Amino acid sequence: MKICSKCIINDKYPGISFNEDGACSLCVVQKKYKPIGENQFLNILQNAKNKATKYDALVPLSGGKDSTYILHLAVNVYNLNVVAMTYDNGLFSPIALENIQRAIEITKVKHVFCKPDKEVQKKIYRNTLLYSGDICGACDIGTKANIIKVAKNYSCPIILYGTSPLEEDSFVPDNIQDIVRFKYILRKYTDLTKKEINDFLIYPNLNLFLLSINKKLGKMAKEVKPLFYIKNPTDKEMGEIIAKELDWKEDKSKEYSKHFDCIAEPLTNYVRNKIYGYERRLCQYSNMIRRDEISREKALELYSNDDITSLPENYQNVLNYLNLTEKDLQTIINNQPLKFEKHTSQINRLFTRLMKIKQRIN
Ligand SMILES: [Zn+2]
Repeated sequence: MKICSKCIINDKYPGISFNEDGACSLCVVQKKYKPIGENQFLNILQNAKNKATKYDALVPLSGGKDSTYILHLAVNVYNLNVVAMTYDNGLFSPIALENIQRAIEITKVKHVFCKPDKEVQKKIYRNTLLYSGDICGACDIGTKANIIKVAKNYSCPIILYGTSPLEEDSFVPDNIQDIVRFKYILRKYTDLTKKEINDFLIYPNLNLFLLSINKKLGKMAKEVKPLFYIKNPTDKEMGEIIAKELDWKEDKSKEYSKHFDCIAEPLTNYVRNKIYGYERRLCQYSNMIRRDEISREKALELYSNDDITSLPENYQNVLNYLNLTEKDLQTIINNQPLKFEKHTSQINRLFTRLMKIKQRIN
């Protein structure tokens, strides 16, 4: 296996190539990261305030580092009147739940806790994981639908997501959040009724195109990723800031602990590595190197400590929770990449292509 001489990405990453010095194409084309700009972000906030609704923004809160930092920014730095919301994905780590409670107590913001039907949710997670090798897509779909719904219920003009530039390029090539693909898997492999699936989806026919139109018309909240607008502290500094301001705590057993808020994260990372030959953390450490947050040596050390190729300690808990056996685990890691590519929404594909062209023009 070939590994980049500058970052630690390998040749399994889709579309990657290496130059004569052994540097990968992501490192070669990488321009120095530049945020969009705080002024643009302030304009968005001012427009939201001008709407004069009771709440300026919705902040989805998972108890992890990025979303807690966004809550701190919204309340303490930009003085917004926010609603925080948490979607119970059934896989919260206890430390994440405590972080949420403390952050809400300290900021005194309104907090909405969305709890979907547990049995339906478990069945959805179990079968999407078993037959497609992915669980994150199902969780993301449920989370996003609930976020949009809460924003609507509380008339929030904007949603402030914790999505971090560090997570760029860390997604698998399969269209895992695609609703057409999602419904296809569930109808083929589960006995869930159409109503149960649609209730889980909340907006069962909402594709990217309709979402965009609804946002433009002001019928749905504008989605904003603040970390792409402003200069960010390093991942470590971010943790220190929220520890001080919101009594945030992290899993000390891991030095770099993105997504520790989910107990299934180590297993999903393991599975991705088996199916694709690369996974989330490899991409994120590589991003951190490109941004001068850590050295390549440090990244290699962190990555080797993560020990992605071994089953994580808690994997049996996750399997038990989802009614899966050791034999099922073999089925999961034997799933082929892009297995459901035929069953994805044409509208979403077209929309994604248009957005990429627009980005290139800009
Ligand atoms: Zn590289």
